[in-house]
Amino acid sequence: MPDKLTPSYKSPAMDAFLKHKLGIDRHAAIASLTCSSCEGTVDPDSLSEIDLREYRISGWCPTCAAKLFGG
Ligand SMILES: [Zn+2]
Repeated sequence: MPDKLTPSYKSPAMDAFLKHKLGIDRHAAIASLTCSSCEGTVDPDSLSEIDLREYRISGWCPTCAAKLFGG
C-alpha cells in the first residue's frame, strides 16, 4: 500500500475544468476520502489496487466508477 493517498496528476487547467463543468473536486474528495460523485465514504484499505488507482484518477468510489463504465 502507498503510505500516502494522493490524486493522480492532472494539469491545473484540467482540474479547474472538471471542477467548473462537472462540480468535481478530486483533490477535496480524495483528501477527505469521499467519493466525488455520490459523496459516500471511501475506505482505501478496502479497495483493490485497481480500484484504488481508479479512485485516485477520478475521485469516484468503485460503485460509481462501475456505473459509469458499465461494469
Ligand atoms: Zn460513489
